[in-house]
Amino acid sequence: DTFTRNRLQKKTERTCAMIKPDAFLNAGKIVNAIVRSNLRINQLRMCKLTQQEAAQFYAVHSERPFYPKLVDFMSSGPILAIEIVGEDAIAKWRSLLGPTNSETARAERPDSIRAKFGTDNTMNAAHGSDSDETATTELDFFFGSGRVGQCANLSDCTLCIIK
Ligand code: UDP
Repeated sequence: DTFTRNRLQKKTERTCAMIKPDAFLNAGKIVNAIVRSNLRINQLRMCKLTQQEAAQFYAVHSERPFYPKLVDFMSSGPILAIEIVGEDAIAKWRSLLGPTNSETARAERPDSIRAKFGTDNTMNAAHGSDSDETATTELDFFFGSGRVGQCANLSDCTLCIIK
């Protein structure tokens, strides 16, 4: 019946992934990992967050001792924001990421993205939304009408890594 069918049907979800500044030069490999694992990329953009934008993105952590360091790191270089769509996309992407701390990831999940491309507890290569609600907020942050992190103009562009 409909009830059983709905219960057994896996849900198509969208999630917000972000390749953080420390892994920007490995973005190709991380995008490849997304595509290989049966997830689809619906939107993708490159930008650089200001300190204020990084602070807003991680506002939920504003009282934590690591917040100032996290904001500095997240605004230190270009990032790639990605909208991922697929069955169980939120959990699947977080599983591909591995544990938050890259050192833990190397010990427990050596094949994970954070194990391969991250450094420590702060510089951990990539982000993934932790729920439907945060996915909606974060996707709006990067892809909504008031989207953040645009280049002001070309001569002012700080994204170019080939000087
Ligand atoms: N973070 C940090 N120090 C910590 C814990 C987290 O700098 O002790 C950073 C890290 O970059 C992490 C982000 O804050 O990805 C958000 O933390 P959260 O606990 O939400 O982990 P995540 O959901 O990203 O695995």
